Amino acid sequence: MPLGNARRKLTRGEIMARIRSKETGPEIALRKVLWAAGLRGYRKNPGNVLGKPDVCWKGRKVAVFVDSCFWHRCPAHYVAPKTNAPFWEAKTRRNRERDREVSGKLRERGWLVIRLWTHLPTGGMVRAVRLGLARNRREHSVADPGL
Ligand SMILES: [Zn+2]
Repeated sequence: MPLGNARRKLTRGEIMARIRSKETGPEIALRKVLWAAGLRGYRKNPGNVLGKPDVCWKGRKVAVFVDSCFWHRCPAHYVAPKTNAPFWEAKTRRNRERDREVSGKLRERGWLVIRLWTHLPTGGMVRAVRLGLARNRREHSVADPGL
């Protein structure tokens, strides 16, 4: 790595991008509590499911997304950064639009979409996922279009 590059201070956007591209804490926390609650058999971030849900039961068509209060503009906690305000405004609004689009398309395809704000207590997350799995109890398949 060139020295100049290594020494260059990262912009906030670059730092955030790096954080976002990795597994974030809330996703890992959710998987841990689901696992502990006996809700298993999920896949994480499957590339062949629209939107790469954080937790996904493909056979049951249940997709769970953990949405961070900042990146997804939680109505209770989103605070616009003071620097580069227009940039963050546009970026987070785009995220929200994409969330709606992804959820809408998945639902059209028969998926049950669960979006959890990171501020939710883990008990509430587990309850929401348990309910979703109970609703989409049976495995979906092409041979069984009545579901
Ligand atoms: Zn929030």
